[in-house]
Amino acid sequence: MSAAVVTRGLGKRYRSTWALRDCDLVLPAGAVVALVGPNGAGKTTLLQLLAGLQQPSAGSVSLFGLSAPAGSAQALGELGYVAQDHPVYRRFRVSELLHLGRSLNPAWDQDLAERRIDELGIPLRQRTGRLSGGQQAQVALALALAKRPRLLILDEPVASLDPLARREFLQVLMATVADEGLTVLLSSHNVAELERVCDHLVVVAGGRVQLAGDVDSLLDEHRVLTGPGAGV
Ligand code: ATP
Repeated sequence: MSAAVVTRGLGKRYRSTWALRDCDLVLPAGAVVALVGPNGAGKTTLLQLLAGLQQPSAGSVSLFGLSAPAGSAQALGELGYVAQDHPVYRRFRVSELLHLGRSLNPAWDQDLAERRIDELGIPLRQRTGRLSGGQQAQVALALALAKRPRLLILDEPVASLDPLARREFLQVLMATVADEGLTVLLSSHNVAELERVCDHLVVVAGGRVQLAGDVDSLLDEHRVLTGPGAGV
């Protein structure tokens, strides 16, 4: 299987503190990858480095064989990013966000975006600030998918949702992955929450990758991480 993401010696330093260091990863194309770790582990830093939203202090990133920075423009065109606080601009109507997305992204699929919003039962004229947290997360996902990305990165997409909204969000995400064969990288504090949906696991703590690999073999080896409600 070819690699969607390869990092070599990747690191990010803020003043004298390394938020992430010596990160060597190979994430297979078509995989659903869970990035787990406690608060301050370096998850957001890693995701932002992969998305080109931060410049590395050390090392390199390549996405689908294109190395950053030389290949980043092309690679970014194939990347959907849902930020931790899914900044769906709350004062805008859903229709206005769709219009904005279409004007910013050449590969934008307006029919797909409208169909997804319609399936969710969300009126296009609704202001996003009036939607529930679960609906806002679903709109953010629909906007990211309308870019037709090959790699979808989601930073703690379900952290602020109630259990029902979490389950619904993960169901929609997994149905999309099954339909479209995307590579997905999503972060969480909680291994147990994602172990059913992911096939690859990366554990970070203290700015370092502690474990990475196929989820079944890792969880067999580290079953202690997966007790009820366990975090890492
Ligand atoms: P959380 O689960 O709380 O979102 P995280 O695993 O995403 O945490 P990061 O946000 O990547 O962790 O932060 C890793 C470390 O880098 C933390 O110690 C954080 O305080 C520090 N850090 C992150 N962004 C900055 C910044 N812009 N300036 C200074 N330090 C930062």
